[in-house]
Amino acid sequence: MAKDTNFCNFCGRSSKEVGLLISGRNGYICDACAKQAYQITTESSAHEQAKANAVSHKELPPPQEIKEFLDQYVIGQDAAKRYLAVSVYNHYKRLSQYGEGVNENDVEIEKSNIIMVGPTGTGKTLLAKTIARLLKVPFTIVDATVLTEAGYVGEDIESILTRLLQVADYNVQAAEKGIVFIDEIDKIARKSDNPSITRDVSGEGVQQGLLKLLEGSVVNVPPQGGRKHPDQKMIPVDTKNILFICGGAFEGIEKKIAQRLNTQVVGYTANNNSRKFDRNNFLQYIAPQDLKSFGLIPEIIGRLPILTYLNPLDRTALRNILTEPKNSIIKQYVKIFAMDDIQVSFDEDVLEYIVDKAVEFKLGARGLRSITEDIMIDAMFEFPGSGKKQLHIDLDYAKARIEKKSC
Ligand code: ADP
Repeated sequence: MAKDTNFCNFCGRSSKEVGLLISGRNGYICDACAKQAYQITTESSAHEQAKANAVSHKELPPPQEIKEFLDQYVIGQDAAKRYLAVSVYNHYKRLSQYGEGVNENDVEIEKSNIIMVGPTGTGKTLLAKTIARLLKVPFTIVDATVLTEAGYVGEDIESILTRLLQVADYNVQAAEKGIVFIDEIDKIARKSDNPSITRDVSGEGVQQGLLKLLEGSVVNVPPQGGRKHPDQKMIPVDTKNILFICGGAFEGIEKKIAQRLNTQVVGYTANNNSRKFDRNNFLQYIAPQDLKSFGLIPEIIGRLPILTYLNPLDRTALRNILTEPKNSIIKQYVKIFAMDDIQVSFDEDVLEYIVDKAVEFKLGARGLRSITEDIMIDAMFEFPGSGKKQLHIDLDYAKARIEKKSC
């Protein structure tokens, strides 16, 4: 310990004037200076950490290149790809403004959450998963169907963020910049457009809960997910900069779009009936009011300002999905056999047959894999270890496998 005559080498006060004087090799530091030094070091390491976590839009390719990347994996869906590319790119821009430090007079870029509407199996999840490969921020996919209001069986809304925290390794700062894809958002829609007649309490309650997340607020997240538990320690997460991408099939929404367009034709544009609508695909005319007619509350719609759609997959799209994407179904089977040095090839009419069956079973793109699997299963069982090096799939072979399965 210090003697009476000793002084703090930082502030110059004597040992009598301070609470505690700590001696070092060549001098002393008082308790107050030690505390201050500690504060300076933590502030500086927090600053370093913030700098390390800073995200810049320069780390991402520009939107056109993002779309080109998506083109390698996802067939068609140009509108959705463009919206998604721009929205993710702008998300990074918004994050970089925090890295640079925003002052009061700056224009602050607000986030633009996105909603994608399209029939099931047309590539919504695939788009979200594919774009995630490009991103350096935490990304997760959650399903809205498991969500319920507090008090009902199911998961609390806050658990959406549990997954994000988990992929961010519980680094809250990183999670607060992440992207969440909420699938099946249409399942929490109110069942009726008129809340006073059939009040679908649970749907609306979940939407209110979700609104809190979308708006940007500090939410207490259960670190292990599931239901909140009185003993569980919550982690506060600020959702202000988390980008939400929502997807849903909104089955039957085409009717609401058609109704709206017809009313418009009769009313406002009565004299101008030159606008022809493509009656096979009403989704392309989707507007926010259709989501409201479907049962999303206006506040939610307001927080999802970017609305885009996915086209139903026609025969040509299905045929392309089989072989064109970078990891298309057929390329995957070729690889599976190649790993045993077996060369596999398909006749073109086999591919057409697979598409026919997918259309017949009304399974869309999801059906392509299971049909191809049924055709290939016998060969995958018999070929490895048999010494055979060539496998050629023709139409008769494919048909025989599918007919055998359906017997
Ligand atoms: P959803 O729209 O219901 O989210 P998914 O994205 O999960 O549909 O698609 C299901 C599967 O169908 C995907 O794993 C993918 O193999 C295939 N698929 C669907 N749409 C496309 C597409 N546009 N391009 C390529 N593959 C697709």
